[in-house]
Amino acid sequence: MAITKTDFMRGMQCPKMLWLDKHKPGLKVIPPEVQVRLDAGNDFGDRAMAMFGPYEEMTVYRPGTTIPDKAAMLQRTREHLEAGTPVICEAAFSNYNNYCAVDILRKTETGYDIYEVKNTPELHDQFVRDAGFQYYILSRCGLKVGKIFIVLHGPEEAEPFLPVEVTKQAKGFYKWINDNIWDLNRMQKAPEEPPVEPGDRCNCPYRCWYYDYCHKAADPARNEQNTDSFVG
Ligand code: SF4
Repeated sequence: MAITKTDFMRGMQCPKMLWLDKHKPGLKVIPPEVQVRLDAGNDFGDRAMAMFGPYEEMTVYRPGTTIPDKAAMLQRTREHLEAGTPVICEAAFSNYNNYCAVDILRKTETGYDIYEVKNTPELHDQFVRDAGFQYYILSRCGLKVGKIFIVLHGPEEAEPFLPVEVTKQAKGFYKWINDNIWDLNRMQKAPEEPPVEPGDRCNCPYRCWYYDYCHKAADPARNEQNTDSFVG
């Protein structure tokens, strides 16, 4: 059990959230409107794969499921990197079992550029941190990463993919990630639930899906909801 990009971002919002993901995921309540946005984001990401023309997708599922087969994806990605495939989508990387899949890798003269796709019109700090996590894993795997982009949903529906370069900011998160990833890894394996009190973190940057579980006691602030959804 190591740390994925999603684990890291959720654990940095709240360590208890990550612990619950691993030990009591049945307590999670994803509001229907959030699930709709997550599904729309997946659809936008699927369409973005073709933004540079022909591509190879690395996604492999375990037989008879929609659960990604990470080992098979890692192997397939290695093969395409060795072959010099120009555009690789859902490229999988692992370092000490910490894992990420990159939405789009585009080959350059010196290595690969990263494109992280988000189905929203505005750039948020959280997206840059997501991309920073990918840079951390890829660079520790020995891949030469050039530029890093967040692909936003632009105003033109016929051509909605709007890359925004965030190279310097995303690479700047390397130390922050390294300073926290190992502690999160240890914490998620702990047998006891971390004693975290609810607070601002329950709505920032995203409304927590364990909100009801942690706010069982009557709480006047309970209705002050942040409706922003987690954008994986
Ligand atoms: S509701 Fe708040 S305290 Fe509970 S897991 Fe979520 S962020 Fe952490």
